[in-house]
Amino acid sequence: MISGVRMVMLGRQGAGKGTQAVRLARHYVVPHISTGDMLRAAVKEGTEFGLRAKEVMDAGGLVSDEIMIGVVDDRLHQTDTTRRGYVLDGFPRTQPQAEALDEIAGERPLHLVVNLAVPVEVVVERISSRRQCETCDTIYSVQEPPKYPWHCDNCGGDVVQRDDDTEEAIMRRLELYEKETSPLIDYYEKRSLLEEVDGLGSTDEVSRRLMSAIDKRLAG
Ligand code: ADP
Repeated sequence: MISGVRMVMLGRQGAGKGTQAVRLARHYVVPHISTGDMLRAAVKEGTEFGLRAKEVMDAGGLVSDEIMIGVVDDRLHQTDTTRRGYVLDGFPRTQPQAEALDEIAGERPLHLVVNLAVPVEVVVERISSRRQCETCDTIYSVQEPPKYPWHCDNCGGDVVQRDDDTEEAIMRRLELYEKETSPLIDYYEKRSLLEEVDGLGSTDEVSRRLMSAIDKRLAG
């Protein structure tokens, strides 16, 4: 079995990063590390940090680099990631985060960075129909709901619309993506780590494209 990849997923909100990252993590037997899911878990726990993060997230802003770098630094030093690897989803989102990741990764550098490409018009449509399990973070949509409305197929948890999937917060997040995150495409291209993958089509089709891009890198 092929296992052990260290990779980052880039792509606009709604490009399908979360959905695909879960599939890739299962296939390559590595943890899926989603900074958005980690922050939502902190919000749910009602910690001081979670409450502060919720305000930023609901407004469509970015949590500070210092905090996010600390969170990812801790996570990437746990033994599951140091031994097997990871699919990192939602980090890095800014240039300082990308530079910090280079340091954190250290002697176990990234194999690749995927840019999951989907045009803006399509993602706006996708985000407004997106729903997510509050308990286990599985992603659904109005077009692909859980079997029993609206309880998660995996865990029975409530499947809801995210608090930050309002039109205003979506527009702000997309703007921030263009300004802060899209320059990272160039950053990784220059390091010859970038693979551009078309995110349009069925979930299975996109997974196949991603796996073939990853396998090519791992073999090379
Ligand atoms: P989306 O990609 O749809 O914005 P995520 O679940 O990845 O959703 O992130 C939700 C929110 O969590 C972001 O809008 C931001 O406020 C915060 N967040 C997640 N990851 C980061 C990060 N690396 N840096 C700063 N803020 C982050």
